[in-house]
Amino acid sequence: MDKEIKEVLQNFARGSGHVTVLTGAGISAESNIPTFRGPEGFWTVGSKEYHPQEMATYQMFMKNPDEVWKWYLYRLGICSKAEPNKGHLALVEMENFFQDRFTLITQNMDGLHLRAGNRLENTFQIHGNIFYTRCAYECTSTIYPVPQKLRTMTKGEDLDEPQKKLLLCPECGRYTRPHVLWFDEVYNEKFYRYHSSINVAGRTELLIIVGTSGATNLPNMVAREVKNHNGINLDINIEENPFSHLALHSKRGYFIRKPSGVALPAIMEIFAG
Ligand SMILES: [Zn+2]
Repeated sequence: MDKEIKEVLQNFARGSGHVTVLTGAGISAESNIPTFRGPEGFWTVGSKEYHPQEMATYQMFMKNPDEVWKWYLYRLGICSKAEPNKGHLALVEMENFFQDRFTLITQNMDGLHLRAGNRLENTFQIHGNIFYTRCAYECTSTIYPVPQKLRTMTKGEDLDEPQKKLLLCPECGRYTRPHVLWFDEVYNEKFYRYHSSINVAGRTELLIIVGTSGATNLPNMVAREVKNHNGINLDINIEENPFSHLALHSKRGYFIRKPSGVALPAIMEIFAG
C-alpha cells in the first residue's frame, strides 16, 4: 500500500477519532450477489418486462403485491446462498478493534455484514434488509424475519395460499412488505437510521467508502460532510467513481483502486500494527 496512506491509517489508529465505513454493491459483488439495479433485476410479468426501478416501488407493491413479493423472494434466495467474503470479515475485525469508535453504514440489503458478525447497533442498513418484513400499512413498526419456508423460491415460482398466509402481518392480517427502501420512498430514522447516519458523519475523522458509485444521496451527504470538516476520505473501488474524485479533490482524500476483499484486510493489518 502507498506509504502516505499507510502513515495516515497508523496515525488514525493511534488516536481516538471515529471511523465510519460506508459500503455499497461492490463488496456484495465479491460474494457473487448481482447488482439488481442492472440487467439481473429485470422481471417479467406476463408479457411485460419491468425495470428494477419500476418493481422496487411502493406504487408497484400496491398494484401487484404478489409479483413484487415473488421478485424479492427470488432475490432473497440468491442472498441466502451467498457467503460473506474477506472484505466483510475484515470489517468485523475492524469493529472488534475500534469498538465504539466504529460505525458501518451500508446500502446493501443482503444482510451479509450482520451474518459476517458486525453488530446491529453499529450497522446502519440505510436501504433495509431483504431478510426482514414489516406491515405494509405500518399498523406496527415491528420488523419480522422472512419465514424460513419462503427462503428457497426460484425465479418465476408462484406463491401458493399457505405461502401467501406466511406473508400476512401478525397484527392486522394484511400484507407485510419487504423491509427495504423503495425508489418512490424517502429515508427515515425509524427504519433506515437516516439521522443517525448524518450525525455520525459529523463526528467521523476517517471515512472509508467501499464499492459504491454514489447513486443515492445519503452516501453523498456523508462523504461531503466528512470532507467539509476536514476528515479523511478514503475510497476503495475497482474503478474511478464520484467518491474517488471527491477524495482526490480533498486535502485529506485517498483512493485505493483494488477489490474490497484485498484492500480491507490490508487496511485492517495496518490498524492492528
Ligand atoms: Zn399490520
